[in-house]
Amino acid sequence: MTLAALAGALADGSVRVVDLTHTLDPDFPVIILPPEFGQCARFRMEEVSAYDHRGPAWKWHNISMSEHTGTHFDAPCHWISGRDVPFGAVDEIPPERFVGPVCVIDCSEATARDPDFLMTRDHIAVWENTHGPIPRGSWVLMRTDWSKRKGAAYLNMAEDGPHSPGPSPEAIRFLVEERDVIGFGTETVGTDAGQGMHLSPPYPAHFILHGAGRYGLQCLSNLDLLPPTGAMLLAAPLKIKNGTGSPLRVLALVEEA
Ligand code: MN
Repeated sequence: MTLAALAGALADGSVRVVDLTHTLDPDFPVIILPPEFGQCARFRMEEVSAYDHRGPAWKWHNISMSEHTGTHFDAPCHWISGRDVPFGAVDEIPPERFVGPVCVIDCSEATARDPDFLMTRDHIAVWENTHGPIPRGSWVLMRTDWSKRKGAAYLNMAEDGPHSPGPSPEAIRFLVEERDVIGFGTETVGTDAGQGMHLSPPYPAHFILHGAGRYGLQCLSNLDLLPPTGAMLLAAPLKIKNGTGSPLRVLALVEEA
């Protein structure tokens, strides 16, 4: 019954599908780690044939990239804190975890002023005063409008590393322990702030989310098209054996007001 109603709402446009995904493109930036570490590969595409002597009636490409390139999903086994979490790889995660309600916390005004902005527990409390408690089993997305940045402004690298916003350790701990979220997503290249290595624990979103068997989404876009509450998120990573993450198409179902 519910699905029939949904089909009707999709057909008459009272429920819209919003694409939260960047296009996979060799020029889209990937995270850059200090040079002593292994590096994440950009998206690459090579032509196999294009209706020519290599295949007269068809066109196709071979593609390659990191599991963590473009709009992508982070699984628990991505981080050392989640290495022994049950069902911690993308191929093992129960599929019902890929669908859930979504809350969007708008931090775009603050991040326009301060690229190192940290979303704290107080920011979440202010949001909840208006919109009510974050429901159990929700995705929480941090809107920063970072997805509108172009070129070097996206990673925003300086001598001391990248400068981009993220959550504070206390905020992530609150979302996991007090609100039992499925996961946390951002518009930046990681779920953590660019300077997240200096927090305690370092990279708290990765450490706390994945240690608790929760998921991350990053390089999201179009968060400004979502309501603060009431949308439904669809985020199913590729079924890579023992995969630590995956590029994916992230969609939101949004009910017209
Ligand atoms: Mn990642």
